[in-house]
Amino acid sequence: MLRWYDQHARTLPWRALKGQQQNPYYVLLSEVMLQQTTVATVKAYFERFVDQWPTLNAMAQASLDEILVAWQGLGYYSRARNLHKALRQLSEQQSFPQAPDDLKKLSGVGDYTANAVAAIAFNQAVVPIDGNVIRVLARVFALTQPLPMLKKTVAEKALLLADSDRPGDFAQSLMDLGSLVCRPQQPRCEICPVVSMCVGYKEGLQQTLPVKAVKLPKPTRYGIAFLNVNEHRQIWLRRRPEKGLLGGMIEVPGTEWTEVPVEPVSGGLQRGVVKHTFTHFHLRLTVYKTNEMPQETEGFWADTNALERYALPTVMKKVLSFLS
Ligand code: SF4
Repeated sequence: MLRWYDQHARTLPWRALKGQQQNPYYVLLSEVMLQQTTVATVKAYFERFVDQWPTLNAMAQASLDEILVAWQGLGYYSRARNLHKALRQLSEQQSFPQAPDDLKKLSGVGDYTANAVAAIAFNQAVVPIDGNVIRVLARVFALTQPLPMLKKTVAEKALLLADSDRPGDFAQSLMDLGSLVCRPQQPRCEICPVVSMCVGYKEGLQQTLPVKAVKLPKPTRYGIAFLNVNEHRQIWLRRRPEKGLLGGMIEVPGTEWTEVPVEPVSGGLQRGVVKHTFTHFHLRLTVYKTNEMPQETEGFWADTNALERYALPTVMKKVLSFLS
């Protein structure tokens, strides 16, 4: 694996060049961005972030709003909030912990990220277990258990494999092999460096592993959003609660999102329906235009020509597209 990695490692903006020291801030930032988001998307965001905040301390000193605005389009905003908290913790303690158990004390850092940072930035002999690593090792060892049980078995196998000299490169070699060779569909076994020891390949199971867990269908939730624009072309917006889905982001006010379809409302003009899918549910948001003065005090008027200043999640951008 290491021989293959030396020749085929992907060039990624957060990776140190051969012989250079890894920057732990880069590793943490990229690993948090890469949770739930593809490498292709993350590259551009990562470069913009380190341009704007070249060091851990610089990003720790930024306001949460600045970070949420820059994060727009990456989704799963709780990652940005936790990352910001973690960087502040690191900045205050003025040291970067190296062991996975210490890294896990940072906000939003779980098993995967702790192991990734420990291995890649600090050469600790651990292996981060993500979808790529699960797929590769399930195939190499022909593990036929479905998830989530499979993850535990993969973690045990991975521990036996962790390389004590170059654990960071070993972890990254698994990630790269999963992305370039042992792909989800049509693995390229003919060019794989571990084909001779791959039991899944020998048994012809490479296309069927890992065994997928049965997925339950996503429920649909419904709600109403109100576009309230005053005579100065300002719109009434509010901030979502810090905790929970899209926490701390700015939104157009509206009803709660429930599994009961919404009734038409009087006193407003229906502009359309926004469809959006979150990880755990689909959302159908009916958009109304209204001129009634907002009843709630928790909110503010925002200039409709300067909405890019606000940390608006994609679903709210869809709602605001009905402004014109
Ligand atoms: S031989 Fe095929 S299935 Fe096995 S690890 Fe390599 S690419 Fe994956």
